[in-house]
Parts: sequence; structure tokens; C-alpha cells
Amino acid sequence: MSHVHAASPHPGLVPLRHDWTREEVRALFELPFPELMFQAAQVHRQHFDPAEVQISTLLSIKTGGCPEDCAYCPQSAQYDTGVKAEKLMAVDAVLAEARAAKANGASRFCMGAAWREPKDRDLAAVCAMVEGVKALGLETCATLGMLTGEQAARLKASGLDYYNHNLDTSPEFYGEIITTRTYRDRLDTLSHVRDAGINVCCGGIVGMGEDLDDRVGMIAILANLPVHPESVPINMLVQVAGTPLNNVRKLDPLDFVRTIAVARITMPASVVRLSAGREDMSEETQALCFLAGANSIFYGPKLLTTPNPERDRDMRLLDKLGLRPME
Ligand code: SF4
Repeated sequence: MSHVHAASPHPGLVPLRHDWTREEVRALFELPFPELMFQAAQVHRQHFDPAEVQISTLLSIKTGGCPEDCAYCPQSAQYDTGVKAEKLMAVDAVLAEARAAKANGASRFCMGAAWREPKDRDLAAVCAMVEGVKALGLETCATLGMLTGEQAARLKASGLDYYNHNLDTSPEFYGEIITTRTYRDRLDTLSHVRDAGINVCCGGIVGMGEDLDDRVGMIAILANLPVHPESVPINMLVQVAGTPLNNVRKLDPLDFVRTIAVARITMPASVVRLSAGREDMSEETQALCFLAGANSIFYGPKLLTTPNPERDRDMRLLDKLGLRPME
């Protein structure tokens, strides 16, 4: 089956909806598990080849020392997690990593910086990285914190394909997780990115001690954005000692799978990414996520600098499941 372009009118395709009520989203979460999986798998096939998985590589170009207080994040300077603050990487070093990522089969290269927002001088360096990565024939993605409209336009001009900025959770639960920026700030950055003509990568994190209503609320907001994010990363919290969310009540993996399925059903043409937390998931849980409509994964940041058994494990899993990298 070939990939159906989301924007093209296609007979038989259910039109994308932007008017999901919370009740409808909640009703999906509450479906009997086999019914939910069946619906998600059906929707998945309308827009994608279910045997294809998009592979992204994430590189931290500026690690640690972040002034924000995201309760899940080991890079916040407010928590003692042992992550040292580093300087922004040099452009050449980033390009070397991008070349290695390409050789390893990645089609998209994401650059992440632990900033509240980029300073103009730093943005110039990131734009040079984007131009260089793009010239290697990779798709480019960045996650740098909040952006103004002008900064988004500069990134677009340098060739940025995707910008990641997550909503993290529901508006109601948000205040438990972050106090240094508002939900509105996040939505504003997303609209600046959208207005600049950059594809949006936006999702959230589950397993932060939120309840079902919060997962419902997060998906409803994402699915009701004026345009669905092209990429929707769904992360399972990785608990890190020193962060406030260390030892928070764990989410049942099946509830994680349900979240993936509901994201797939409500945002049928988006790539849904099984993101952080995969390393701690069983192969069976990951297989259920693919069945539920996940069609993208990250290769970890350590991939490029060290011999990487993780990568082999990932490839073996994709092989076992008969999945192949999306071109
Ligand atoms: S803004 Fe990003 S890097 Fe900074 S604390 Fe929050 S999640 Fe971590």
C-alpha cells in the first residue's frame, strides 16, 4: 500500500476532524481494548503503510543547565540530577554526527537544545547546523524552546523542516509539571512555527502521575489544533533520580498503548512517534504500539558516539515484526 498524501482529497478517506469533544476522546480510551486496536489499525491503513516506520535520530546539541523547571527533566538546572551544563556544540561536530546518523539509516535528524528560548547569536549557529544537515540530504528538526515569529522565520529560511515543541499534558495538569512558562506560551510558539511554514512536531508525556482525564485533555487539544501536528510524539516518562517525578506512580503499559491508539484515531494523517521510554518497554508492548498505529521511533542520542547495542536491538525488533524504515 502506498502512502496517501494527507492533503490530497481521496475517495473513501474520512476527513480530518478538528472538533473532537472530550467525551468522544474519552469514549475511545474506554473502548474494549481489542475494539480500540482494531479501529486504530483501520485508520492507520487509510493514510500509511503499516509496515513502514519513520526513523529519527536525536542529538543533544546543548545539554543541561536549563533555567526551566519541567518536573520530568534531568536537564533542568533546578534539580540535582548529575547532568552537567555544556556549551552549544560546534557546527562541524554536529555535522559529523548527522553523517553518522544518515549512514545508520535515519531519514530525519533532530537537534535539541536545553534552552528556555534561543538567543539570537545561538540561533545563527543553529541555522548553520540546519543548512549543513539539510545539505547531507536529511530532513531537519530542532527543539530549542520558545520561539518568536521572527526566530521561526529565520529557521525556516535556513531550511528547517520540523520544529518540536510539546504540550506535555492537559491544561489542567500542566501547572503540576511546569511553572516557568504557561500553556498559552506553548500554543503561541506552535502557532509561530506553523505560520512560518515549518512542520509541527508536538505531543506529550504520559506516566507523570496524571489521570485518564488528563490524557484525554492532552489528546483533545492536539487533535483540535487548527492543523494537526505532522508528528505526534507520545512519550512514556523515564523517571530520573533528582527530578520531582522520580518515583511517581507508574502508568500501566496498556494505558500507554491506548494513548497511542487514540492519537492515531484522532489524528489519522499524522506520524505518531513512540518516543522516550521505549528502552524500558518490553518488545511485546512496543509491538502493540505499532499495532495501535505508532509509525515512528527515535534512535537514542548515544547511538552516534558509542558502539550501539541499542541500535541492533531495535533493528532486530523491526525485523522480527516485519517492519522497515520509511524512505
Ligand atoms: S525546557 Fe526542555 S530542557 Fe529545559 S527543563 Fe524543560 S524539558 Fe528540560
